[in-house]
Amino acid sequence: MKIFKDKQTLQKEISKTKGISFVPTMGGLHKGHISLIKQSKKFKLKTMVTIFVNPKQFNKKSDFRSYPRNIKKDIKQLKKLKINYLYIPTIKDIYSFKTNKKVFLDKLSKKLCGKFRKGHFEGVLNVVNRFIEIIKPKYIFLGKKDYQQLYLIKKHIEKRKIKSKIVECKTIREVNGVACSSRNSNLNKNQMKIASNIYYYLCTLKKKIKKDYTLFNINKIKKDLLVLGASKIDYLENYNIKNFKKIKKANKKFNMFFAYYIKNIRLIDNI
Ligand code: AMP
Repeated sequence: MKIFKDKQTLQKEISKTKGISFVPTMGGLHKGHISLIKQSKKFKLKTMVTIFVNPKQFNKKSDFRSYPRNIKKDIKQLKKLKINYLYIPTIKDIYSFKTNKKVFLDKLSKKLCGKFRKGHFEGVLNVVNRFIEIIKPKYIFLGKKDYQQLYLIKKHIEKRKIKSKIVECKTIREVNGVACSSRNSNLNKNQMKIASNIYYYLCTLKKKIKKDYTLFNINKIKKDLLVLGASKIDYLENYNIKNFKKIKKANKKFNMFFAYYIKNIRLIDNI
């Protein structure tokens, strides 16, 4: 595994390769990231993982500062997985050049997480656009856990006629149902149990509303979630994941998107 800290050295190295399978991460690696990497390795190109906690996608400085980082452990894991390249850029390396393409921001960026984390998706698209220009990957592996992000990156790639292809990867969960996330490392045992209870509550709710959508009584559901131990609910909304139209009846396939806090830890998922 070759480790790069600057784009010039990295670009010199990859100019000789046939193509790159790219797995962008913010580090704090867990089973979700590992499944993306394993998928990427199946494509038989060179796998590149990036670790970059992108300050521009955090709307609160305190959240950026407390984001879980564990670079030594991450490097160890990546070596074991035998990836080809690891790129750990500095903020300057990413932001000190002018991009060829402008970011395309679909209107969905203002909904769900975009509504509660102002500027978040502008920050995500900005950094992804930059990584794409530096690496020019053939494939980009993204998790469905962050489905809104995946959809917005897809729209940017379509609109800007970028050649990279997105590979959508399924959400990996802990045995208690909670979606793996770097932020889970900030949860204690009791808080993890709360997250698990909330997950199962929402799975049961989804089954019920598929039969009778009038049971989607948002005020009652929010109250139930608070009773289960959530501290605050940002949103709980149902969308058709093909076109991101909000669901009004359960006559089509839909995903339930939710974001909530346990104390000051924000968790998101979709089921
Ligand atoms: P992050 O490090 O949180 O920015 O995530 C990097 C990539 O891993 C993104 O494409 C995420 O969607 C994906 N990812 C995060 N958690 C999971 C998970 N539990 N299952 C599958 N993919 C995930």
